[in-house]
Amino acid sequence: MSEPALLQGRIVAAHGRHYSVEMAPRGDIRQCYTRGKRSGLAVGDQVRVRPEGQEGLIVEVLPRRNLFYRSDANRSKLFAANIDQLLLVVAPEPEFSMDLVNRALVAAASAGVPVHILLNKADLPTVAQARQRLQGLADLGVPITVLSALDPAAVRRLLSPLLRNRSSLLLGQSGMGKSTLLNALVPEARAETGALSAALGTGRHTTTHTRLHPLPQGGTLIDSPGFQAFGLQHLSAHDVARGFPELAAAAEECRFADCRHRHEPGCAVRAGIERGEIQPDRHALYLRILEENAAGERY
Ligand code: GDP
Ligand code: ZN
Repeated sequence: MSEPALLQGRIVAAHGRHYSVEMAPRGDIRQCYTRGKRSGLAVGDQVRVRPEGQEGLIVEVLPRRNLFYRSDANRSKLFAANIDQLLLVVAPEPEFSMDLVNRALVAAASAGVPVHILLNKADLPTVAQARQRLQGLADLGVPITVLSALDPAAVRRLLSPLLRNRSSLLLGQSGMGKSTLLNALVPEARAETGALSAALGTGRHTTTHTRLHPLPQGGTLIDSPGFQAFGLQHLSAHDVARGFPELAAAAEECRFADCRHRHEPGCAVRAGIERGEIQPDRHALYLRILEENAAGERY
């Protein structure tokens, strides 16, 4: 008996170890699963599927351009694969965490993914203060767009050129307005959610964590669950340093080649902080991530 031919598709939603795969070339959705304990698949992955009735078994993941993820202690959370940019949503209320923003920037740098910050809730008077908090990142070259998700027409006008024909991952802490933004950009997002859940079988409550939406202007927008932590255990010290280019540049002038920029004499990074050229909170986060990762390795 011959094996059925393999099909190819793209993962558009992940629910635990079950995946919705958009099949080439027609774009129909097939519910697929992986065998055994295999997880490690992400929305945006191109996969080969062996059809099994109406469903399918994922037998292979094609090589990725990139994979954006976080890792806390022993667990990795894969956000998306093969993305062109990360759209990081922040807001003045509830006050965004600079620590989480910087961590997402480090993960993006090591995955080779450019970041664009969306400062949402521009209608609130506290937005000016929030914009001020972001100035240090703007100085490092991170683009920032200030907008209000409550004005969907303006959101579309501001973001369409950025989104067109690209695969973008929308990421943010809970409460920043990510869902409201998504609904402004993908009006059918709510309806789609219902349709895909129905395709998974009635009566089963499914929480979908991450989902890829086609955009009217071409391109895709990947929605991910809000997060309150952002571990970077998967990064080597070298990767972490890549996330802090301003420290790496200064470090060229440190007296010792293996300077860790703590208390070493002749440390150009610390000198840069004293001159106000390097932000102390970024330096502190750099040290904290290295410490966390060193502690993680002991287990
Ligand atoms: P999520 O957790 O990031 O998905 O956030 P939501 O989209 O659910 O929004 C959280 C809250 O912020 C809701 O009450 C929204 O109505 C509100 N919100 C979202 N965008 C804006 C905005 O631009 N301005 C204001 N004032 N409130 C907003
Ligand atoms: Zn140093």
